[in-house]
Amino acid sequence: MAVKLYLHTVYRRCWHAHAALGTIRAMPDTSASAPGTVPRPRNIFDRYHAHVYFGPDTVGQARVLCEEAGRRFGVAVGRVHERRVGPHPHWSCQLAFDRTQFEALVPWLDAQRGGLDVLVHGLSNDPLADHTDHASWLGWPSTLDLSVFGR
Ligand code: ZN
Repeated sequence: MAVKLYLHTVYRRCWHAHAALGTIRAMPDTSASAPGTVPRPRNIFDRYHAHVYFGPDTVGQARVLCEEAGRRFGVAVGRVHERRVGPHPHWSCQLAFDRTQFEALVPWLDAQRGGLDVLVHGLSNDPLADHTDHASWLGWPSTLDLSVFGR
């Protein structure tokens, strides 16, 4: 698992070299953007949320993904919101987990998300920071509605 995380980190800096060597599998939806510009999840907090984003066409896929994450990793699976809630600009489902679950869950989620974008954020006592400075992504970032934090 450490190797996978290492590759995940290296991937951001050396995507072309590693892709050319065939040492990693390509992640097509991020290869078109500039590698390294999207903050990717790092295990530096005690607790985390992953918010899986989806829409009317992908709600079934998201439901299966979140249920499977709960089954496999014992993470807490929140409600599948078929509406926008909190700062989230899309329909979403929350997975809650900690640092001991991170290294198994996050690479799995990245491999299994099937094009769904996932916000992963650390949990501190500062909700605004959690959704800005502590925010990272699997897939494409979305602009969050920070007005819920008074911004
Ligand atoms: Zn959250």
